[in-house]
Amino acid sequence: MAESRSTAGDVERSVVLPAGYGKAIRLQAGRRLRLVNLHGVQAVDLWAFVDGDPGEYLSMEHFRSVHSVVWATTATPLVSNARRAIVTIVEDTSSGRHDTLLCPCNEPLYRQLGAPAGHRSCADNLHEGLADLGLAVPFTPASLNLFMCVEVRADGSIDRRLPSSSPGSHLVLQAEVDVVLAFSCCPQDITPINGPERTPRDCRIDILAPPPEDAR
Ligand SMILES: [Zn+2]
Repeated sequence: MAESRSTAGDVERSVVLPAGYGKAIRLQAGRRLRLVNLHGVQAVDLWAFVDGDPGEYLSMEHFRSVHSVVWATTATPLVSNARRAIVTIVEDTSSGRHDTLLCPCNEPLYRQLGAPAGHRSCADNLHEGLADLGLAVPFTPASLNLFMCVEVRADGSIDRRLPSSSPGSHLVLQAEVDVVLAFSCCPQDITPINGPERTPRDCRIDILAPPPEDAR
């Protein structure tokens, strides 16, 4: 399938984000990665924590307060609960729908939906990914729901729409401070938030090589 070209630079290494699973990655200040939505339909929940101080983390409520928007774009740096930019979306070839409103899927949500016990969730993927790096946080912050198409109607109600990005569309994220990024390839297979087929799909993360010294 065709992937849109990126101006972000060379790929240092790539990792698959398997359907329904998550991964946490350390990214130093100034470094970039590219998240590729291979099939276009997959929502990917994102969290960011300041490396070494996970009490400062990407905060959806501060994001909305600072920018007065409910979607994240290249024009809206991702701010922490200390209201400083810790990550920036520097490139976005998707439909630009990145939800800040809904919670990450979680065990009680799947229980209410009637799923079998042990259904995977984005919240669990966050904590599993952090544990792989030897990290733990005692709570689950609100996630930035990349590629998740959620709109607000004039009456204030929330409209969960089908995914609207194209296969191969991507985001490039840049760390503004040393961060731990946690991604979850959303395992939701009961509602159609990952597309009408209700089938989670793989995504890919490309860690991009640092720019040459003379290009900084
Ligand atoms: Zn989810």
